[in-house]
Amino acid sequence: MSSFKIAIASGKGGVGKTTLSVLLYHQLQKAMNETISLVDCDVEEPNSRIFFPSSTQTKQEVAIQEIPAIDTERCTFCRKCVDVCEFNAIMMVGALKHAEVNESLCHSCGACEYVCDQHALGTKRVAIGLMTQHQTPLGSLYEGRLEVGSVMQTRLIGMLKEWGPSGHIAIYDAPPGTSCSVVETLDEMDYVVLVAEETSFGLHDLKLIIRLVKALQIPFGVVINKAGLGSTPLKTYLQQQQVELLGEIPHSIPFAKASAKADIFDSMPSVIQGAIETVAQKIKHKRVEV
Ligand code: SF4
Ligand code: SF4
Repeated sequence: MSSFKIAIASGKGGVGKTTLSVLLYHQLQKAMNETISLVDCDVEEPNSRIFFPSSTQTKQEVAIQEIPAIDTERCTFCRKCVDVCEFNAIMMVGALKHAEVNESLCHSCGACEYVCDQHALGTKRVAIGLMTQHQTPLGSLYEGRLEVGSVMQTRLIGMLKEWGPSGHIAIYDAPPGTSCSVVETLDEMDYVVLVAEETSFGLHDLKLIIRLVKALQIPFGVVINKAGLGSTPLKTYLQQQQVELLGEIPHSIPFAKASAKADIFDSMPSVIQGAIETVAQKIKHKRVEV
């Protein structure tokens, strides 16, 4: 059967997105009886793996970004490259014959090399993060971890998605919010599960990410986490907007405590289990529909 890529996203952090990703990783495998991978795209703070203390590392690769390096012997300091760089990444002082490319700003677009008729631009390799594959009791878990100080979240996520699973069902745990990193994670997804909570901030941020997913034209549905805890008219909003409610995970203090200790599989209340099964069944049917 064809691949099916599902992203789990939320307009804000702290709504239980990673917990839901891990629960669906577990439940979809049972519901669909196929190989499922989990890809942790929250590269600034990947934490899906803490739910699998027995996992073992199977593969690792340093994510490399190639940025230009200016050969000041060949360079005539014409500044064409400085002018073409959309990201102000090139710093040049002709009088001092000094030129350098700022690694944090460079997006490796290649424009500077294109305009340089002196062939003064070489290549420098910069590590932007680590990509790791782990074997968990449920299957493969891919994780990206950004190099400290790097701002190349989007690039690392793109590389992780290429390096990671192919040809089967994969769940992509997106970074929180509506940033470029989230857009990069959602790119080429077949379906998006948005996780929300019934608070004022939750509704506000859900509206933002619904706008984003609609703009990207990806089918989506919403899961309310910690249902019953807040009192905003979130469900009314979903009805008005004709957004599908995939399920509600009830608020449970014992489960919240278990989740905080990354111990969710052995101590899952039956109401949580039932809610996850409902969501998984609905997602299973999406594969046929999309
Ligand atoms: S375009 Fe080439 S020659 Fe001109 S300043 Fe840039 S590196 Fe130097
Ligand atoms: S590769 Fe692109 S972003 Fe990087 S320095 Fe050259 S023009 Fe600027």
